[in-house]
Amino acid sequence: MAEAATLAALNARIVACELCPRLRAHCTEVALKRRRAYAEREYWGRPVPSFGDPKARVMALGLAPGAHGSNRTGRPFTGDGSGDFLYPVLHEAGFASQLRAVSRNDGMKLSGLWITAVARCAPPGNKPTPEELRNCAPWLDREISLLPDLRVVVCLGHIAFDGLLGHAVRTGMMKTRAGFAFAHGAEHKLPGGLIAIASYHPSLQNTNTGKLTRAMLLKVFKRARELAEL
Ligand code: SF4
Repeated sequence: MAEAATLAALNARIVACELCPRLRAHCTEVALKRRRAYAEREYWGRPVPSFGDPKARVMALGLAPGAHGSNRTGRPFTGDGSGDFLYPVLHEAGFASQLRAVSRNDGMKLSGLWITAVARCAPPGNKPTPEELRNCAPWLDREISLLPDLRVVVCLGHIAFDGLLGHAVRTGMMKTRAGFAFAHGAEHKLPGGLIAIASYHPSLQNTNTGKLTRAMLLKVFKRARELAEL
């Protein structure tokens, strides 16, 4: 099959993807059962398309949709605690038009930023398997090739960081991941020219415990802006 020629076409293919039976079954089940607070609302329940500015110089690369967040709303980091933490930071750093992301029709616009993830379907326990991550990797490869202005990738969590290194190896930018270590705030210039910034993921587990504070995440996105010359 020919590769998607545009980001919109790529998103349409992602939404229709059925490559991981375990994840598709889980997302569908969550969408049918729903959480009591959202019982009256329809869940998205499909792979979550990426979101943002096609001219983005900065990418935020997450792990996977939250079962009752983007698996419910159909937009990355929208409608859950991670998004409630992330979007105000993106707003202050000048990437997001609004403080709050509640639904895919809430009017949010991103400028200079593209948000995506290494897995597009909500996994049980927030843990995609290595095989599921491999299944989803070609979507990221194609996505990056369709973002010609991209300079900086903020990797939200260790798995996202590994996903970006995997992309660099798969596409021949580098032969090995050796020498690229994850640490919050670490910057790595990849051989193909992209700059990776590693960050802790804004999961409730990290933000409720103070492992990741608002100031820490804001510093990361302000630095991304600086490196991208925005
Ligand atoms: S996780 Fe990725 S590869 Fe797997 S079904 Fe969802 S979109 Fe497809």
